[in-house]
Amino acid sequence: MEHALQHRERVGVQDFVLLEDFRSEAAFIDNLKKRFHENIIYTYIGNVLISVNPYKNLPIYTEEKQKLYYKKAFFEAPPHVFAIADNAYRSLIYEHREQCILISGESGSGKTEASKKVLEYIAARTNHLRHVENVKDKLLQSNPLLEAFGNAKTHRNDNSSRFGKYMDIQFNYEGAPEGGHILNYLLEKSRVVSQMSGERNFHIFYQLLSGGDQELLKHLRLQGTPEVYKYTTDMVTPNSQKMNDAEQFRTVREAMKIIEIAENEQTEMFEIVASVLHLGNVKFVQNDKGYAEILNHDANSGNVAELLKLNTTKLREALTSRTIEARGDVVTTPLDLEQAKYARDALAKALYEKHFRWLVSRVNSALAPKEKDPRASVIGILDIYGFEIFPKNSFEQFCINFCNEKLQQLFIQLTLKSEQEEYLREGIEWEPVEYFNNIIICDLIEERHRGIISILDDECLRPGDATDLSFLEKLSQRLDGHAHYKSHQKVDSRTQKLMGRDEFCLVHYAGDVTYNVNTFIEKNNDLLFRDLQSVMASSGNNIAGDCFKDLNLASKKRPETAITQFKNSLNELIKILSSKEPSYIRCIKPNDFKTPMHFDDKLVSHQVKYLGLMENLRVRRAGFAYRRTYEAFLERYKCLSPDTWPNFRGPAREGVQKLVEAMRYEKEEFRMGNTKIFIRFPKTLFDTEDAYQIK
Ligand code: ADP
Ligand code: MG
Repeated sequence: MEHALQHRERVGVQDFVLLEDFRSEAAFIDNLKKRFHENIIYTYIGNVLISVNPYKNLPIYTEEKQKLYYKKAFFEAPPHVFAIADNAYRSLIYEHREQCILISGESGSGKTEASKKVLEYIAARTNHLRHVENVKDKLLQSNPLLEAFGNAKTHRNDNSSRFGKYMDIQFNYEGAPEGGHILNYLLEKSRVVSQMSGERNFHIFYQLLSGGDQELLKHLRLQGTPEVYKYTTDMVTPNSQKMNDAEQFRTVREAMKIIEIAENEQTEMFEIVASVLHLGNVKFVQNDKGYAEILNHDANSGNVAELLKLNTTKLREALTSRTIEARGDVVTTPLDLEQAKYARDALAKALYEKHFRWLVSRVNSALAPKEKDPRASVIGILDIYGFEIFPKNSFEQFCINFCNEKLQQLFIQLTLKSEQEEYLREGIEWEPVEYFNNIIICDLIEERHRGIISILDDECLRPGDATDLSFLEKLSQRLDGHAHYKSHQKVDSRTQKLMGRDEFCLVHYAGDVTYNVNTFIEKNNDLLFRDLQSVMASSGNNIAGDCFKDLNLASKKRPETAITQFKNSLNELIKILSSKEPSYIRCIKPNDFKTPMHFDDKLVSHQVKYLGLMENLRVRRAGFAYRRTYEAFLERYKCLSPDTWPNFRGPAREGVQKLVEAMRYEKEEFRMGNTKIFIRFPKTLFDTEDAYQIK
C-alpha cells in the first residue's frame, strides 16, 4: 500500500486549506496541476468546489460513483460535484433550507457540464421516489433544447452557452422533483447576424439545414447548405460536423416532444428560424434618389412574408423606410443603404431573441408543477458567464463583469452571514475576518443618478446628438477621482498608450478592465424601428405575433434600456439567491486548445485571480476551516483513540473532547460549540481521511 505521505506528494491535497503555504499562488497552482495530471479534477476550498476541465471523458460519473456520494459528508469521499449536489439535496430535504448552486468560470471551463451533472445526480438520487420520471425527463430534456437555440461554437468552446441561465428545481415534501423554472439572461443576439471568423451562429440553424427532412425544408423554402445563407456563411462546415448537426436535430425534435411542444408549434418555430436565414439574404439596391430599395422579384423578403404570414409590401416598406411622429405630424422618410441593412439586421436579432424568450417560457410552462404545492422547496442552479477580459472589451463585457461584481457581493454577504449565524447558533465568539468588500464597485456601476448605468441611460434618453464619446466625456467628468474609475484623460504619459481616447478603465475586484465605448449608446438603446415592430405584430405566425404584440406601440414612453433591463433582472436574481443557502463550483479551463492533459500555468493563474480563489482561501483559513456535529465526528474518528474505540458510552460531546485531546489539538486550535466541533486547521483529520481513501 502506498504510504499516506507518498500519496499526498503525488496527488496533492484535496482541500486547499491544507496547503502549508496557503498564501502562495504558486503552491495553489502546483496543487491543481498535480491533481490534474493524475486525472483528479476536483479540489475543495472548504465547501467551495474547484473543478478543472479535463477535456476528456473520465470514469467518474458512473452509477457506482453516484452511490459513493449518497448521504456522505464532505471529506468522507474525494471532492466531487456529486458531493455538492448531495449536500444541497440533503440540506433541503432534511433541514428544510432552500439551496442554490452557483457555478462560475470563464467560457469553456466546464460550467454547463457541471450543471448537467448536478441535475443528473439529483435525478438518480431520487430514483426510488414515485411518479417522477416524467418530470425528470422534462428537466433533463430542457437542456438540449435550449442549447440548440442558445449555444454556439466559439473559439473557446464548441458548445458555448451564449446566455446566462438560472434554473430552479422544485421538490415536494417527499423530496421528489415535481417541476422547475428557468430564468435566462442576455442572449448574445449579435451572433445572429455576424460571427467572428472560425465561429458559428447558433446551433439550430445548422441543425435544421442538415437534419430537416425534405418536406420540412421545402415548406421552409430552405435549400442548400449553410454557406448559401449570409448569416451562416462565415464558416465552411465539414461533412463530419454536418452529420453531427443532423443527429443533434433529431435529439432536438425528441426533446421538443418531451417538452410537449405540439407539431404545429414546432413548425411555427422552424418558420421563424428559417425566416431569419431568409432575412439575412434580403438585398437592397440603391435607387436613383440614393435610397434603399428591395427589388420586386426579391425572393428572400417574399419567403419571410410567406413564412411569417405578413403582407409582403408592408414588410418591404418597413425595411426601407421609417415613420416618425414629430409634434403630431407623421413623416415617412426613406432609408439609405446602410440604414436599411441596419434595420434588417435589427429585425433578425429581435426576432431571434424574442423567439428564444418565448421558448424559455414555453419550457417553463412544461416544467410547471401540475398543481400548486405549498410545501414545495427548491434548489437553484446558476450557470452564468464568469469575468471577461478580452483585448477589446465592449458593452457585453461591461454587462457580464457587472454581473460578476454583483455575484461576488452576494458571495461576501452570504458567506459572512452564514458564518456569523452559525457562530451565533453554536455560541462561539465571532472573529471578524478582513476582506475586500466590492460594494464600492457595484455602487460605482449601478447607484441611482450617479452610477455609470444612470449616466449611460441619461445619455441615451437625451434628445439630440448623444454619441459614445459624449457619454465617455460625461463619465470622466462625473466619476473623476473615484478610486475604481480610470479616465483616459487622467492616465500618465506612460500608460496613455495603453488606453485609447474612446476608452475608460474600471478597477474590478478581479483586476483592471479597459472598456471601449464604441456602440455603447446603440446597444443600450436597442432600437427596432416602429414600422418593423408593427409589421411583426401583425404576423399570422402565432409565435412571432405573440413575441411582438406585447410591445406597446401606442405608448409614448421609451422602453427600458438594455442595461436597465439587465440591472433589474440581475437584482431580481440576487434577491432570489439571497434567500437561499449557497454552494459554489468554480470552474477552470486548463488550456486554450480544448485538449486533455495540457495544463497552462499562466492561463490558470489568471483564472485563479478572477475567481478570487486566493482571497477565498485566505478567508477560509482565517476562520475555522472544519466543523462537524459531535455525533458525526465521533462516529467517523472514534477509532483514533482507545478511549472512544470501539464504543463510547456517554454524550457525543464528551467523546469528541476525548478525541481532540488524543489528537493533541491546542486550546487555540478548536472550539466546542453547542452541537458542533470547530477546528481551525484539521491537519490530523485530513491525514486520516487521506489514509481512509487510499486504503
Ligand atoms: P462552459 O459552460 O463553462 O462554457 P462547458 O461546460 O460547455 O463550458 O464545457 C466545454 C467542453 O469541455 C464540453 O463540451 C466538454 O467537451 C468539456 N468538458 C467540460 N467539463 C467536462 C468534464 N467534467 N468531463 C469531460 N469533459 C468536460
Ligand atoms: Mg456553458
